[in-house]
Amino acid sequence: MVEEFAIYVCPHGPNDRCECRKLKPGLILAAAQELQLDLGHSFMIGDSVRDAVAARSAGCHPVLVLTCHGSRQHEQYRACFGPQALVFAGLYEAVCRIVDYVSVNGKGQEK
Ligand SMILES: [Zn+2]
Repeated sequence: MVEEFAIYVCPHGPNDRCECRKLKPGLILAAAQELQLDLGHSFMIGDSVRDAVAARSAGCHPVLVLTCHGSRQHEQYRACFGPQALVFAGLYEAVCRIVDYVSVNGKGQEK
């Protein structure tokens, strides 16, 4: 169940050296602070290695979906995060599997 909803956007370009443009975790950290999220028990779903690096930097669990850029990023994602890294066909499957996992294991704790 989604209890909070917010959208965070980095308005900067690659040369602006901001803290919110991925690979940096600034947007995730801002969301965590404002929404009082426990990042160690949170999942970030994205379609790129950049998303996953930002997620790891922020301390949450990265999840790759194979839609949009994800299918082209799959090999690089596995190389960076290992064979156990979470990969799903799309957003719906990812959300369903995460909900199932949390239902069985409690919060998003790694084994
Ligand atoms: Zn930014």
